[in-house]
Amino acid sequence: MEIQLFNSLGRRIEPFIPIEEGRVGMYTCGPTVYNYAHIGNLRTYIFEDLLRRMFRYFGYEVYHVMNVTDVGHLTDDADEGEDKMMVGARERKKTVWEIADYFADAFFLDLEKLRILKPMVSCRATDHIQDMIDLIARLEEKGHTYSAGGNIYYDISTFPGYGTLALLDRQELLSGARVHVDQSKKHPHDFALWFTRSKFKHQAMQWDSPWGRGYPGWHLECSAMSMKYLGEHFDIHCGGIDHIPVHHTNEIAQSEGATGTKWVNYWIHGEFLLMDTRKMAKSKGNFLTLSNLEASGYDPMDFRYFCLGGHYRSQLRFSEESLTAARNARLNLVERLTSSIRDPAEVGPMEEHLPPEVSDESSLQYLKRFKKHLSQDLNIPRALAELWGAVKDEDIPGEDKVSLALEMDKVLGLGLKEQIIRKDDLEHEYAELIRAREQARKDRDFKRADEIRDILRRKNIVIEDAPDGTRWKRIE
Ligand code: AMP
Ligand code: ZN
Repeated sequence: MEIQLFNSLGRRIEPFIPIEEGRVGMYTCGPTVYNYAHIGNLRTYIFEDLLRRMFRYFGYEVYHVMNVTDVGHLTDDADEGEDKMMVGARERKKTVWEIADYFADAFFLDLEKLRILKPMVSCRATDHIQDMIDLIARLEEKGHTYSAGGNIYYDISTFPGYGTLALLDRQELLSGARVHVDQSKKHPHDFALWFTRSKFKHQAMQWDSPWGRGYPGWHLECSAMSMKYLGEHFDIHCGGIDHIPVHHTNEIAQSEGATGTKWVNYWIHGEFLLMDTRKMAKSKGNFLTLSNLEASGYDPMDFRYFCLGGHYRSQLRFSEESLTAARNARLNLVERLTSSIRDPAEVGPMEEHLPPEVSDESSLQYLKRFKKHLSQDLNIPRALAELWGAVKDEDIPGEDKVSLALEMDKVLGLGLKEQIIRKDDLEHEYAELIRAREQARKDRDFKRADEIRDILRRKNIVIEDAPDGTRWKRIE
C-alpha cells in the first residue's frame, strides 16, 4: 500500500519512497533532560511512535534513533539565555550530571508507561562530543564557520538553502529581522557551533577542542549523532513544529553544509498540545506531567487514547473533561471487547479465549479502511473510528471484533490484550468474593460477609443485594 505523508520540506503530501526498499531510517529529536517531560512533549513522542508502528505494520523494518540532550540547549533556542541543564541543576541543588541521569530515567519510564517503543539507539549528547568536534572541523574546512568573541559560529550566508524548510526569506534573514543581541555574530541568524569562555564562565560541562575549552551548541548534536547512526542520507526526521524555524533549519545547514548533499528526505512535524489555548511549555509554567495525571487517578493509556483523537497535524486542546471522556471511551472499549468474548461466569484463562487472526469478511472490510486511513498521512482518528464502527456492528461476531481490535492495536498501541485479560481477571476476583459473601450470609456469618463487603469497597466496588442476586458496580 502506498503511504502518503505530509513533508514539511515543500509543505505537501507526498508518497513515501524509502532510500532502501523495505527499510526506514528515522531520527526523532529527544528530550532536554533538565526537567520532567510535559504531556505536550509526550504528545509528540506518541505521534512519532504511531508513525513508527504504522511503518512496522506495513512491513517496513524501522531503525529509530533518538538523542537525549544533556548539554548546550539554552533557554532560548537561538543562542540566548542560559543552558537549561544549568538552570535545572541550580534549582534542584544537584550537579548537571545528576540532573541529566535523573530526568533521562524519568523520561524513559514515561515512554514505557505510554507503550512508546524504545528507539534502537538513544544517544546522549555528552557521549558524542568528539563526533560534534569532527563535524565542526568539516564545516570549518568548507568555509562555513567563523570565530568571533571566543565562539565558533555558522555563517548562514555560506549556505544558499538556509531557511528553505521554514520558508524563511533569505534576504530578510541576512539583513537582520531578529533583534541582534549577540554582537559577535555577522548575521543575526548565524548560530553557535562551539561556545568557549566567552559565554558562561560557570558552565559545568566543558571539553577541550581545537577552538578552546568549551561546549557545543545545541543543534550540533542532532546532525552529528543522526549521521553517525543513520548515515549521511536517511529517510525521516521528526519533531514538534516549534523546531522548524531554528533547530531543524540549523540542523540542515550543518549536515548539508558538511556533506554537500541532501540529508533527510521527509520532515514530519507534530502539532502542539494546547493548555488553556496556549502552547504547553515548561518555561511558561503551564504544564502537566504524566505523573500529575496518574496522581489524579488516570491511567497512562487514557492519555494515549486522548492523543489518538487528534490528527498529528492539528492542535489538540487538553482539558480534564476531554481526558475523562477519553478514559470513559477507553474503558467502554475494553468492557465491550471483554464481554463480547465470553460470559464472566465462565472459567479458565482468558488467553485461551482470545481469538486468532481476522478472517471474517466484514471485519476485513474494516481492516482495509483502517489501513487506508493510516496510509493517508497517518490519519489515526479515522482509523480509530473504524475500530469503533466494528465494535458497534451487530453483524460482526464477538470473537471477530476482538481479533480485529487486537490487530488494529498493533498500531494504536493501547495494550488492549493485557487490559482485556486484566479486566477479566478482576471480574473473576469480584465474582469469587461475591460468591464467598453469599455463602457467609447463608451460614449467618455476618461478620465475614461485612468484611468481604469492605474488601470490595477498598477496590472501589460497591455491591447491591437485589431479590435476584447480588450485583456489583465500580465507583470512581
Ligand atoms: P524539548 O524537550 O523542549 O526539546 O521538546 C521535546 C519535544 O516536544 C520536541 O519535539 C518539541 O517540539 C515537542 N514539544 C514541545 N512543546 C510541545 C507542545 N506543547 N505540544 C507538543 N509537542 C511539544
Ligand atoms: Zn534535534
